[in-house]
Amino acid sequence: MALAIGAASAASALGLPLVAIDPGHGGADSGAVGSLPPGTVTGLTPRADAAGNPLIFEKDVNLDVGQRLNAILQANGVPTLMTRNTDSAGGDVPYVSEGADLKARTDLANAQAAQLFVSIHQNSASSALGTGTETYVFTGTGPASRALALAIQQSVIARLLLTDRGVREANFYVLRNSAMPAVLVEGAFLSNPTDALAVASPDVRQAMAEGIGTGVLNYAGMLGAGVVQQPVPTKISLARSGGAVSRRAGINPSRGDLWVATVIDQSGIPMAGVPLTARLPNGKGVSVSTRGDGKALLAVPRRRGRLNVAVALPGIRVNARGDVPARIR
Ligand SMILES: [Zn+2]
Repeated sequence: MALAIGAASAASALGLPLVAIDPGHGGADSGAVGSLPPGTVTGLTPRADAAGNPLIFEKDVNLDVGQRLNAILQANGVPTLMTRNTDSAGGDVPYVSEGADLKARTDLANAQAAQLFVSIHQNSASSALGTGTETYVFTGTGPASRALALAIQQSVIARLLLTDRGVREANFYVLRNSAMPAVLVEGAFLSNPTDALAVASPDVRQAMAEGIGTGVLNYAGMLGAGVVQQPVPTKISLARSGGAVSRRAGINPSRGDLWVATVIDQSGIPMAGVPLTARLPNGKGVSVSTRGDGKALLAVPRRRGRLNVAVALPGIRVNARGDVPARIR
């Protein structure tokens, strides 16, 4: 279903951002599991416990909402990419491990230079009383992710009418390793019988997708109006690092020097998940990605020469150079 959002037209002229849609979990990882009353029809892959009582799997809800969001954004002219389209791990490959699954998702978004990352999840708590919607950003993230999260949280609340648990911070992998503004929406609690029954309805999942889509379009309107700035890598600084960091990074300092490349955006905020290519003094090329603190580690052979580091995102050119002395310590 197409949404008519006035704010989006302002952004269209300037180009709408490429949005990575990330339906959480998949394959062997079901995510949260909720119980449904007997006879509940979900429109999703039927799931049941050993006694035949219907269940609802988070991975199924996330994919369904993600596909609905994909249709909404495309109908509004927003380019998208899905981190998975099937009941499988990120990149539509069989689930092997949580680490590989999550890495595939952010690698996809970073490699295709997505400009926004929207991860879709459903919540779970030890108490069945936990209810409502919350949206996460990476701890200490910049203003763009916060603006996107707030826009999405407000519009999902307006459509779903669940408890507003607000915008929160967390050190989630997909938020930490995305090179673009990134949010993670927890739509409802599958551990809460009322929330779970609501999400079992295709209409409610459509409303959730429309709420997220409206938030993305409102944010895009803010981008087009210059209210918020899309972070782009604008500077790399290089610094030689001491042995303590070398040991923590698992790199043997005796084999060469360790350099740290720090990437910041135009607001001076460190950017996570930015892919870098480095040309080492021995001619070897290596690919690294910045961590949550905007830093990437480079082990450099002990050889005199020039160290070149560049952002590896299409259309963005930021370079840094450092001179490596023959004798370092
Ligand atoms: Zn989840």
